[in-house]
Amino acid sequence: MIITDTHTHLYSEAFDEDRNEMMQRAIDKGVKRFFVPAIDSTYTKRMFQLEKDYPNEVFLMSGLHPTHVKENYKEELAHVSELLAERKFYAVGEIGIDLYWDKTFLAQQQEAFQYQIQLAKKYKLPIVIHCRDAFNEVFEVLEKEKGDDLFGIFHCFTGTKEHAKKAISYNMKLGIGGVVTFKNGKIDKFLQEIPLEHIVLETDSPYLAPTPFRGKRNESSYVMNVLEKIASIYELSETEIATITTENSKAVFGI
Ligand SMILES: [Zn+2]
Repeated sequence: MIITDTHTHLYSEAFDEDRNEMMQRAIDKGVKRFFVPAIDSTYTKRMFQLEKDYPNEVFLMSGLHPTHVKENYKEELAHVSELLAERKFYAVGEIGIDLYWDKTFLAQQQEAFQYQIQLAKKYKLPIVIHCRDAFNEVFEVLEKEKGDDLFGIFHCFTGTKEHAKKAISYNMKLGIGGVVTFKNGKIDKFLQEIPLEHIVLETDSPYLAPTPFRGKRNESSYVMNVLEKIASIYELSETEIATITTENSKAVFGI
């Protein structure tokens, strides 16, 4: 069984004390592929080091996270663009719009999102979308950029069934993580109506730990709890879910 964590911030300071042990726990459980989203330029060095330490397991993305779109966003976008020109990445992410924390930079967030989608198209890469309290704003940008060359993952999907269908209509897979295990998470109620070919697994470590670790530090080995829940929703074995979602991740990332 090969499990793919399509969204994990393994380079986070939260793992500085025990990163190797944390990685080994995941690998021992069958999590063999880790897709690692960027946040901003301050983490680039850490991401490269991680890739050096786990060259067969870790696949990096380049991008500017919407909550890090601030006064210096033009410089940050130039950094993303330079990295993409320099070497191989597997996606542009995470990118998108977040209106939960702060609405000050909405216009800049929209501009950064659209610009990074265009970068992804230039390099024929998928995008990994972060969307929080901003479905309308995200869909507005996707509508402008839609087409065969637009594809990727709607990470940490927490919307309604209608949002799910709309995301899929833009060639997005739904990244399902810890929220699906929450009592009030809501998506578990309609997920079985969404064909499994549109689903990938993720943790968003160190954030959003699944039940029974809710509120604690999340790590990639906890993707097992997400896998278990998805298997019960779709009434398939965990091995079948792992195989199908890993295939789905290959279709997106090309590896
Ligand atoms: Zn993330």
